[in-house]
Amino acid sequence: MDSYTNIMGIPVPKLTMAQTVERIGGVVEGERREELFHVVTLNPEIAMACQHDLELRGIVDRAGLLTADGIGIVMVSRLKGNPLPERVTGCDLLLELLAEGDGRRWTFYLLGADEQTNETAAQVIRAKYPGAVVAGRHHGYFGAEDEERIVEEIRWCSPDFLIVALGAPNAERFIHKYRRQLNAKVAMGVGGSLDIIAGKVPRAPLVWRKLNAEWLFRLLNQPSRWRRQLILPRFAVRALLYRRR
Ligand code: UDP
Repeated sequence: MDSYTNIMGIPVPKLTMAQTVERIGGVVEGERREELFHVVTLNPEIAMACQHDLELRGIVDRAGLLTADGIGIVMVSRLKGNPLPERVTGCDLLLELLAEGDGRRWTFYLLGADEQTNETAAQVIRAKYPGAVVAGRHHGYFGAEDEERIVEEIRWCSPDFLIVALGAPNAERFIHKYRRQLNAKVAMGVGGSLDIIAGKVPRAPLVWRKLNAEWLFRLLNQPSRWRRQLILPRFAVRALLYRRR
């Protein structure tokens, strides 16, 4: 049984990165199910949106696994006296799963980012993790009229992992909507991770990550994000004051 910490009414399991990879690995090595296993990397934006967006809240509640995406979530858990062990961000988790999949020949479908970035990310993955299989890929700039065709393509590839880089919460909504049709074992929204893997956006150096300052690095490198990051202090205050209603 997992123990949980409560982030604005959302129970987040207290799992380390290694435990998370092991849990997901167990799902991948098991039988393929009709409904995929949805991993939601919970960041402050999703936690805040869940307070008024009941549809999104329903998606989060039905997820197979939640992870603590970002230091904001971990800090709140610490300040509330029920600490999560560490950050398990979408990008870090994806890299760990690729490394594990390299040894186990896991298959990945990459959906999202612009065409050039998606293609480069696939090439980088093939070069760095030759044992992991990129079973298929599609860029993330498509209209509603293309969805059925893309879902059919993913279904045909029957990947172990569907990696969705459409930005949150679009990725979560897409995965949830098609969870019974996609024929993947595990699906996960990973934000801008394909941009990082492709080298389009620089990754915070290890020392910044160790200092839990990845958010600052991203802000300095993509100043256009400042508006989005304003949500962090608001999230911290609301999450600390949150009382179960
Ligand atoms: N994206 C996409 N289709 C869209 C909008 C965004 O594929 O219609 C991609 C975008 O190219 C980027 C990712 O989604 O690769 C979102 O990155 P962002 O840094 O905004 O995500 P975050 O990590 O903040 O969730």
